[in-house]
Amino acid sequence: KQPLLEVRNLQKHFNLGNGKILKAVDNVSFAIQQGETFGLVGESGCGKSTTGRTIINLYDTTGGEVIFNGENVHKMKGKKQQEFRRNMQMVFQDPYASLNPRMTVGNIIAEGIDIHGLNSGKERKERVLQLLRDVGLNEEHASRFPHEFSGGQRQRIGIARALAIEPKFIIADEPISALDVSVQAQVVNLFKKLQKERGLTYLFIAHDLAMVKHISDRIGVMYLGKLVEVTTSEELYAKPLHPYTQSLLSAIPIPDPEIERTRERIILEGEIPSPLNPPSGCPFRTRCPHAMPECAAAMPEFKEVEPGHYVACHLY
Ligand code: SF4
Ligand code: MG
Repeated sequence: KQPLLEVRNLQKHFNLGNGKILKAVDNVSFAIQQGETFGLVGESGCGKSTTGRTIINLYDTTGGEVIFNGENVHKMKGKKQQEFRRNMQMVFQDPYASLNPRMTVGNIIAEGIDIHGLNSGKERKERVLQLLRDVGLNEEHASRFPHEFSGGQRQRIGIARALAIEPKFIIADEPISALDVSVQAQVVNLFKKLQKERGLTYLFIAHDLAMVKHISDRIGVMYLGKLVEVTTSEELYAKPLHPYTQSLLSAIPIPDPEIERTRERIILEGEIPSPLNPPSGCPFRTRCPHAMPECAAAMPEFKEVEPGHYVACHLY
């Protein structure tokens, strides 16, 4: 089946001047099926947000391509481009910074409806009120301003805004990272509910694996601009292959104290290297407990080692 989104050998490099090139995204490939949630995980600065922003065409590509619904996102024009802008929407990390403080919640949510000239008058109002209900807020909220809401409520407003023009695909860039732990699960559950009701497809970006597990069908792990492992959510937790994924997983506390007590934590040595000056060969080799001489010599190929399970590591 043709995937809804295909990312092929995507590269996004930034020229910082003085001969410095930041390879924020380097040769990343993955595909997302219609109705699926793909989690993209890694430490801050690994290139996951840049990947999202390049996919939605906020950035041009340096190399490779992004195919949405069979069309090259960065080559679309006219009607196709307009359609794409409706079909792909973004939910941002910071619900405080991403909502205009001088606009009412109703007008914030209706922004896309107005830009795309979809509804006016009574229909527009009805649509806004329905969206408020759909995200667990109520109708009186339409005339209020963002500062009157909690972080979790603001993120619901951001989600309603993204949904207003009925997109097919949502990129959620760390949508729960800025929220209290107590409300994170509620927002994740809202994403799940909306997906079920509307058949949405998600790219869900996060910096830790704990919450992503509950929403993702498949997960990709990024390190220093490279995708190092991709597989199903279950497989990744049961049988992580890449040493970096193994260390990320070992950092998640397990609720069962018996397992927690006997479990081995993998503590990584050293800092994450500067993406401006990445190590030769495997980008993870300066912190990898299994590093071998060949790891410095060549970048391991990203290959399928079991059906649907991809990893870039010389151990396999
Ligand atoms: Fe570690 Fe080598 Fe595998 Fe990189 S290629 S993750 S350094 S074993
Ligand atoms: Mg980010």
